Amino acid sequence: MGIISGITVRLLRAQPFESEALDKLAETMKATPILKRDKLHRYYKSSVLPICCLAYSDALVFNSMYYEMLLPDEILAVGAHEFNHIAKKHVVKRLPRTVLPALTLSIVIGYLSSINSTLINIIQLFINFDRGLLIASTTVLFFLVFLVASFYVNAKWLSRQETECDISAAEFVNCEAVVSALAKIPHKTSSRESKLSKLLPHTHPSIEQRIKDVQAARTFKSN
Ligand SMILES: [Zn+2]
Repeated sequence: MGIISGITVRLLRAQPFESEALDKLAETMKATPILKRDKLHRYYKSSVLPICCLAYSDALVFNSMYYEMLLPDEILAVGAHEFNHIAKKHVVKRLPRTVLPALTLSIVIGYLSSINSTLINIIQLFINFDRGLLIASTTVLFFLVFLVASFYVNAKWLSRQETECDISAAEFVNCEAVVSALAKIPHKTSSRESKLSKLLPHTHPSIEQRIKDVQAARTFKSN
């Protein structure tokens, strides 16, 4: 399996499972990269995944609590949304707009800090860190900052991809199941959590907006 999905699956202590129904849907939706894996390395469940479902180009990881709440049709609805991400190559298209610019900028900063020692010397006055380690940790820190910034910059574009995948999913599976699977996504309960989610980049429309968009697309199609 892919290196990144393989590492994530291990970190999330995800358990694999087989699904004929998801396989058939992946075939219909031309989410072919996932079908190249053997049957036992396509779908996973994890109790520690902080979101409902995560798509790699060759694997899906469901949050096990969310998965257990879903009816068979709703599992297919979530699968259809994720297969759209795979078929439309969203995972690959996101790299040049998110990870790559953040990586390039942080490497440039790391390089500049290695040739211009003023900043490093100032930091070293406060922290008695090895010089190489300091340059490496500065680079990592800037990478994380730039990565978060790139999600703010690309929030609208990412959010449009989610709507696109929801609407397209409703063309392959039961539209009601798409709506009810969305409605089962746990809402932020504590006010602290919801305040925090307002500050984070809005890479997904709200659940209410997603449901409205799916229903509006269905009404538009049936008229
Ligand atoms: Zn999505």
